[in-house]
Amino acid sequence: MRKQNNTNTKTNGKVNPLKPSERMKIPRHLPIEQGAEIRISNFEEVSQGFNFELALEEAKRCLECKNPVCVDGCPVNIDIPGFIQLLLEKDYQAAIEKVRESNYLPAICGRVCPQENLCEIVCLLGKKREPVAIGKLERFVADYEMAHGKFTPPQKAEPKNQKVAVIGSGPGGLTVAAELAQRGYDVTIYEALHEPGGVLIFGIPEFRLPKHIVKEEVERVKALGVEIKTNVIVGRTITIDELFDELGYESVYLGTGAGSPNFLNIPGENLSGVYSASELLTRVNLMKAYKFPEYDTPLKIGKRVAVIGGGDVAMDAVRTSKRIGPEHTILLYRRSREEMPARVEEVHHAEEEGIEFQMLTNPVAIHGDENGWVKSIECQKMKLGEPDEKGRRRPIPIEGSNFTIDVDTVVVAIGQSPNPVIQQTTPGLETTKWGTIIVDEKGATSREGIYAGGDIARGGATVIQAVADGKRAAVSIHEYLTQVREENKKKAEQVAES
Ligand code: FAD
Ligand code: SF4
Repeated sequence: MRKQNNTNTKTNGKVNPLKPSERMKIPRHLPIEQGAEIRISNFEEVSQGFNFELALEEAKRCLECKNPVCVDGCPVNIDIPGFIQLLLEKDYQAAIEKVRESNYLPAICGRVCPQENLCEIVCLLGKKREPVAIGKLERFVADYEMAHGKFTPPQKAEPKNQKVAVIGSGPGGLTVAAELAQRGYDVTIYEALHEPGGVLIFGIPEFRLPKHIVKEEVERVKALGVEIKTNVIVGRTITIDELFDELGYESVYLGTGAGSPNFLNIPGENLSGVYSASELLTRVNLMKAYKFPEYDTPLKIGKRVAVIGGGDVAMDAVRTSKRIGPEHTILLYRRSREEMPARVEEVHHAEEEGIEFQMLTNPVAIHGDENGWVKSIECQKMKLGEPDEKGRRRPIPIEGSNFTIDVDTVVVAIGQSPNPVIQQTTPGLETTKWGTIIVDEKGATSREGIYAGGDIARGGATVIQAVADGKRAAVSIHEYLTQVREENKKKAEQVAES
C-alpha cells in the first residue's frame, strides 16, 4: 500500500522503490542550462529545466511526508506531494492537472517563483540536505503538457449570466478571470497594452520566461471563454463607472500592477543615456529592440553600463544589457549581497555571466558631457547599520568616500509604483499614501463590487502573490455576485406577488 499523505491524492499505488533513508542520500539534481559564455550573446532561455530522467530522479527524493509542510509554503497550496507522486507514476498529464487545480499558470510559476523562500524553504529534506526542486518539477509537468500532452479546459459551472470586468492581464488578472470563468461568469479582461500578460510579457526577459510560454498559458485562460480586449486604458478609454453603468458589469477586479518606475532623484537623472529598467525591458521584451532594425524600436546602449538596484528587476536589466553587447556591465547596490532581494538563481546566473557586482555603493550624481550624454556616475560607499522594519540592515553613508565610475549608460531599477489613472478617475476608491489601493482580507476595496490585488494593492510583490490574490478575490466576487443574484430574485418575486 502506498503511504497516504493528507492531501487526498488519488494515485495508482506506491512507485518509489527507495526507503526514506536512501532518498535522503540523493543529491538535488541540477537543471540543464545553456553555458554562460554562449548565453550572453543570445536571448534564449538559460535554464532548460529537467528532462524525463532528471525529473524522475528528482521526484524520487520526495519523502512523502505525513504532514507535507511544503503545501503550506506555497501561497496557492498546490498539492505538491500529490503531483510528485503522479509524476513518479509517469502519469504526467494527471500530474499537471493536479497542479492546475490550484494554479492556472504553472509553466510561468515553475520558472519565476522565488521557490527558495516559499515551498522549498519549508521542505523537510532541506533541514538536513537540499530541498526537493519543487519549482523545477512543476515546470517539468507543465512543459510536458505543452510538448506532449493534451490540455483540456476544466469543466465550467452553469452560466450565471453575470458580467465581471478584470482590469489588467498580468498574473493576477489572468487568475481571477480563469477562476470566475470556471464558476460560470462572463469575464472580460481589459488590457492597456497591445499584448496580454503584464510583467510576464513586457518585464521578465525572454531568457528567463519565453514569451511563447506566457502566450500558451494566456490561451488556456481564453479557452475558458474569457475575452481579452487589448489597447484599452481603463480610466482613459472608459471609466470604471461606465463599465458598471453603461456596459452592465456587476463586479470589477483591479489587477493593474505597479508599472510606474521610481527614480533616485539625484542630479543628472535627465541626461541622455539614463533609462528606467521598465523602459529598457519593455523596449527589449515587448518591442524586440534587440532585433532593430528588423523591428522598429531602437535601443542605444553604450560601452559601459551601470544598473542600479538589487531586486529581480535590476538583475533582469543588467543581464539584458549584457546581452545587447557593452564591454562592461556593473551592478551597483547600496546594501550587501546578503540583503539583495533578487532570486538566488538569478544572482548566481548574473555572476556566471560576468556582471561585476559593486555592493555597498550608492549613486549620488550622474555627470554628463557637453552634449548632454552620460559620461560617469558618482557614488558613495556605504556600511550596514541596524535592521529596518523588514529585517534588512540599513545602509549608512560613509562620509568622504565618494568616487566616480566612467559609464555611458545608466539604468535605474529601484522599484515601481502604481500608475494613478484608475485611482484618479474612480470616486470613492481609497488608496494609501503610496498610491496602492486599500483592500480588506477578502480583497474588497472601499467601493462596493470592486476588488483588487497583486502589485496595485501590495506595491511591488511577486507573481505567485498576484496569483494568490486573484484566487482570493475570485472567491469573494463569487460570494458577492451570489448575494446580488439572490437579492434580485427576491425583488423579482416581490414584484410578481404585488
Ligand atoms: P502586472 O503583471 O503588473 O500586470 C498589470 C497589467 O495591467 C499590465 O499588463 C498593465 O499594462 C495593465 N494595466 C495597468 N493599468 C491599466 C489600465 N488603466 N487599464 C488597463 N490595463 C492596465 N516576480 C516573481 O515572482 N519572480 C520574478 O522573477 C519576478 N521578476 C520580475 C522582473 C521584472 C522586470 C519585474 C518588473 C517584476 C518582476 N516580478 C517577479 C514581480 C512580478 O512580475 C509582479 O509582482 C507581478 O507581475 C504582479 O502581477 P499583477 O497581475 O499584479 O500586475
Ligand atoms: Fe512553489 Fe511557486 Fe509552485 Fe507554489 S507555485 S509550489 S510556491 S513553485
